[in-house]
Amino acid sequence: MITFPKTVAAAATGARSARVRAGGTDLQELRSTGVVAGDIVDLRDVPGLGGIAEDGVELHVGARVTIAALAVHPVVTQRMPGLAQAAAGLATPQIRSRGTVAGNLLQQVRCWYYRNPHLQCAKKGGATCLARQGDHLFHVAWDNGLCAAPHPSTLAVALQAYDAQVELDDGSRLDIPALLGDGSDPRQTHALPAGRIVTAVHVPLVEEGEHGAYGRAIARARAEWPLIEVVARLRLDRRNRVQEARVVAGAMANRPRELSAVAEALLGQEARDEVLLAAAALAREGARPLPATGYKVKLVAGIVADVLTRARDGAGQEAE
Ligand SMILES: Cc1cc2nc3c(=O)[nH]c(=O)nc-3n(C[C@H](O)[C@H](O)[C@H](O)COP(=O)(O)OP(=O)(O)OC[C@H]3O[C@@H](n4cnc5c(N)ncnc54)[C@H](O)[C@@H]3O)c2cc1C
Ligand code: SF4
Repeated sequence: MITFPKTVAAAATGARSARVRAGGTDLQELRSTGVVAGDIVDLRDVPGLGGIAEDGVELHVGARVTIAALAVHPVVTQRMPGLAQAAAGLATPQIRSRGTVAGNLLQQVRCWYYRNPHLQCAKKGGATCLARQGDHLFHVAWDNGLCAAPHPSTLAVALQAYDAQVELDDGSRLDIPALLGDGSDPRQTHALPAGRIVTAVHVPLVEEGEHGAYGRAIARARAEWPLIEVVARLRLDRRNRVQEARVVAGAMANRPRELSAVAEALLGQEARDEVLLAAAALAREGARPLPATGYKVKLVAGIVADVLTRARDGAGQEAE
């Protein structure tokens, strides 16, 4: 059964016994293959989940705002280029115009064992991770939990880099690491409490003049998940020295990975090419590749250096 609640409270009540549907681009695929079943509570008619507004402190993004709308909002493009480029660069134009901000954060992993309705891996409550013994070419190289599927959300990487918080229907807030959990429980792709819905995402406004960029290493030019993806934020002084730095990467581990060593190595340094390259090399720290994912360890420094360089130079990323 599908219901279309008219209030946030009714949607949250429905979410106790049914799956929440926003754009449906991930949920419907999982339903069509039989990986998930049961009732649906659709957010289409719930008021207050759309729109983007700022109040001088934060940018407030409704949970049902589409990825495409987020990507072109003037505050995002002018003040948060890493977030704007991430939103504009993920998936396809069709998915971005239908998929929502909350749906992107809460989508399921792209692991083909998980998405096969006939297989019962650890994420579905089975005993083991099938990818570890099987085909894990696109899986993690910074192995931090039994589930070896990279976290699928590009917006999670960007929103973590911009210190965003999600708001739930009870008014409580979670930052992105708290929303996603630590990745140690293979059954959880996120840690949204059962029966709760996300109503909004709040992003602290960034001071003018900050630099930022998003980039990804990708196996084909269009409609593909990244092999590695990176968001970098830099604040430079008049002499081009790095005053503040933040670097977060995705597709490396089963949660977005904070590249603190890279950011710390940049602080106080002049943002010359050699400095960015040396700092980017530290992104390899902590790697624990699976037999087929060692290539990600080789890739990571190059893509981090590229994103840092584009952030410094204020260069954009081309979206399809
Ligand atoms: C070819 C292709 C390439 C792609 N590449 C990328 C990529 O590079 N990066 C990336 O991030 N994604 C990628 N995607 C995935 C795509 O971005 C997601 O399918 C989309 O963002 C999901 O949003 P949705 O609104 O359709 O979610 P839905 O399918 O409606 O929902 C997804 C999940 O979120 C839950 N949910 C949704 N809204 C709420 C809410 N408000 N409260 C509580 N729970 C909620 C649902 O219950 C469901 O579990 C790709 C998809 C395709 C087909
Ligand atoms: S990587 Fe995760 S989703 Fe894939 S088989 Fe292993 S436990 Fe299942």
